[in-house]
Amino acid sequence: MDDAQLLRYSRHILLSELGVDAQQRFLRSHALIVGLGGLGNPVAQFLAAAGVGTLSLVDSDRVDLTNLQRQILFDTGVVGQQKVDAAQARIKAVNPEVRIVSVPVRVGAAELAPLAAGADIVIDCSDNFATRHAVNRACVAARRPLVSGAAIRFDGQIAVFDLRDPANPCYHCLFGEGDELEETRCATMGVFAPLVGIVGATQAAEALKLLAPTGRSLAGRLLLLDALAMEWREVRVVKDPECPVCGVERR
Ligand SMILES: [Zn+2]
Repeated sequence: MDDAQLLRYSRHILLSELGVDAQQRFLRSHALIVGLGGLGNPVAQFLAAAGVGTLSLVDSDRVDLTNLQRQILFDTGVVGQQKVDAAQARIKAVNPEVRIVSVPVRVGAAELAPLAAGADIVIDCSDNFATRHAVNRACVAARRPLVSGAAIRFDGQIAVFDLRDPANPCYHCLFGEGDELEETRCATMGVFAPLVGIVGATQAAEALKLLAPTGRSLAGRLLLLDALAMEWREVRVVKDPECPVCGVERR
């Protein structure tokens, strides 16, 4: 690290749990962020500010006026722009050292496999079950840690699936694909603005801890937040040996 980097990242370097070694690992790391909505905004912003060297940003949407209530990476002047382009401009302004890989397409299994394999960590900030399951499959296949988040109305969820170890559960072990019948979307249900910040910042924290590595990750646990009562609950996540994605017959 040069003098400017030692200054820029000094408040991380001061933390004995991180220090120079973890900061250098951040600089060498590549994070894949799937979705640049309410969750992807703070995730991208914190990972860029923290000096994660390369960010792959995936989103096919353009910035809409209805996004600005909670998607704090965007401003009124960028309504109508591709989200990946608007995000890249803001991230470059915060930290010009971060390399951005823009993926302005709607991703499925074919696109996600090489994207996940090329990253050190995957942060799922998508808003639908089909994408979440496709991201999970790609992470299981590539053995990449997956930091998953969701937010709707006043309810948030965060989980980590450390798929580097095949003994650990995957997203499908927790949420089977039959469960997506009652899929709820922000467009119809609404979402409380700061909720996406709380969930997204928690995802960013878990991603940095895994990259460092430091502390105890959320792997094997699902955090549930009721922001209306400001109550957190924790549920243990166990591996389903019959899971069609990560189960024993797959190995
Ligand atoms: Zn599984």
